[in-house]
Amino acid sequence: MRVFALLLSVFFVVACSQDKKSTAAIPVDKNSTAAITVDKKAVDLSHDYFSFANTKQFVTDHLQLDLTVDFSQQELRGLAVLHMRRLDPSATDIILDTRDLHISSVRVGDGNGEGTEASYEYAQTDPVLGQALKITLPDGLEQQQNLVVSIRYRTDPSASALQWLPPVLTAGGKYPFMFSQSESIHARSWIPLQDTPSVRITYEAAIHTPPELLAVMSADNDPHTKRNGEYKFTMPQPIPSYLLAIAVGNLYFAPIGAQTGIYAEPETLEAAKFEFADTQQMLETAESMFGPYQWGRYDLLILPPSFPFGGMENPRLSFITPSILAGDRSLVSLVAHELAHSWSGNLVSNKTWRDIWLNEGVTSYLDARLMEVLFGKDQADEERVLSYHELLQGLKEVAPAMQALAPTERLKDPDESQGSLYYQKGQLFLQLLENTYGRKTFDPFLAAYFKHFEFQSISTEQFLDYLDKNLLQKYPGKFSRAQAEEWLYQPGLPADAPIPHSETLETAAQMATDWAAGEIPVKDIPMSEWSPHAAVYFIDSLPADLTDAQLSELDANFGFSQSHNAEIARAWFIQVATRRFLPAYEAMKVHLNRYGRTRLIEPVYLALAKNGKDADLANEIFTEARSKYHPLTIAAIEHSLNTANRGH
Ligand SMILES: [Zn+2]
Repeated sequence: MRVFALLLSVFFVVACSQDKKSTAAIPVDKNSTAAITVDKKAVDLSHDYFSFANTKQFVTDHLQLDLTVDFSQQELRGLAVLHMRRLDPSATDIILDTRDLHISSVRVGDGNGEGTEASYEYAQTDPVLGQALKITLPDGLEQQQNLVVSIRYRTDPSASALQWLPPVLTAGGKYPFMFSQSESIHARSWIPLQDTPSVRITYEAAIHTPPELLAVMSADNDPHTKRNGEYKFTMPQPIPSYLLAIAVGNLYFAPIGAQTGIYAEPETLEAAKFEFADTQQMLETAESMFGPYQWGRYDLLILPPSFPFGGMENPRLSFITPSILAGDRSLVSLVAHELAHSWSGNLVSNKTWRDIWLNEGVTSYLDARLMEVLFGKDQADEERVLSYHELLQGLKEVAPAMQALAPTERLKDPDESQGSLYYQKGQLFLQLLENTYGRKTFDPFLAAYFKHFEFQSISTEQFLDYLDKNLLQKYPGKFSRAQAEEWLYQPGLPADAPIPHSETLETAAQMATDWAAGEIPVKDIPMSEWSPHAAVYFIDSLPADLTDAQLSELDANFGFSQSHNAEIARAWFIQVATRRFLPAYEAMKVHLNRYGRTRLIEPVYLALAKNGKDADLANEIFTEARSKYHPLTIAAIEHSLNTANRGH
């Protein structure tokens, strides 16, 4: 399974430990400028190696879906109609991406009538890419420019994009739930299509569900829609296939602002409404900085606890983990991140998965800017420092060739081997440009960039040329193209990389050391005045040689084991497991059963398995809890436990 690739592509803050599959600890010399030889002839960097589709011969403009959601069979079944254009007059076969689809018929026509039955076959199969569906055009369509391809099919219960949850795994416990996760290359497991971000399509859908449930999509959800099991959607803006999304469950709507609202199960609706009350203001702030929001409504869908990720930027409807419902709005930077994708990622998309830093790096920079306006510079700087530390960690774990923002070697799997560093390194690159040119120049440049490439999918090289022409050459002598190329194509961190700084985090780290050394009493640590980020930094900064009595003192005073802030709990239980602090093991088990988001639990399992004594206990807890987890989370934990066990 390509679990890690998928995980990495959608996490806001990714734990690098989740991608150890093909990486080794490699010390990075920050000052090394030894260039990696770029053999651009070896691979065509503009080619999407993760799609079979012959997009140079035919391209899709529009998709129509008519699907029945069948919970008893765990399948979607119905019709996908692709409206395609012929680019190459001599082409006779259309090749689409599929994975584990059960296809019963294919018809091709010119749009008048039902079309003609066409012959089809699986031309190629690949463990990463799935199956290439080759459709031979029926006779008589040789001169036809516009083609309509109708495919009748059903999905497999194992479809890699879909999770079918029994009622027990939902917040309410009474109704089943289904949701999709198409990024990076999983749309093909629920729709036969050209599954590459280089192709943008509009779509419309008719979705049939049990009458008591509501369907939502990455489209024009109507908050006042009649709840009857028959739902219609249109997405008038062209999007790449990885942004096709659907969810069905016992969902209700609550408005936040004129343009914004929440979809959630009734059990979490009020908490979510409180937590994300700033979303409308966030949207308006983003518009003032990056240009108009071009998607109509912006709603949030709160998923059940087993949603394996932080969030997914499905257009008009971000999918969000319930684990950031902290009760104090302290973890909403994830929403800022998903919202910022409305510009970087959704409006201007990466052309291939090799260019994913254009989505994630740019978005990470934007979300920090949003957080700064909404919650102040201190909090934004805290998040920048945490992100920087994840980057330093990532650089230790990712092979040099994959440390480039835009690797010039072919990836084996989308995102494979890059860890999460394209998030943080990309953010730092844009931060450097901001520092160099000042916000008065850089902000309008960014807004113009989004406008220039709106509704397009672009490559790193298109970005570089635009940057060169519209910023570097316009203000000569400040930053060279060679400097930009070092960021984009070389490993490690360039010498000009800015180092983020946060006084509150430094204070927290200092206090951790001072308290551990007995220099200050625990009551002098102003934990209740600190942000969760400072609390996390404090926990991470505790020296290795603490006694159980000291850990007990911390827990008694600050209640870490009982924390309902998922990030504090995560940091604490990693320490608990690493240090074998047995008094908190019961609470740790509660944590591992409460959350399904991979980031929050996988590192705790790993720490447990690696502490030298608890590998069996880790397996035992996992065996008991795994029915609550998403298959991708299960695979990630299994991978970690196996890796740890091999280490002994
Ligand atoms: Zn993102």
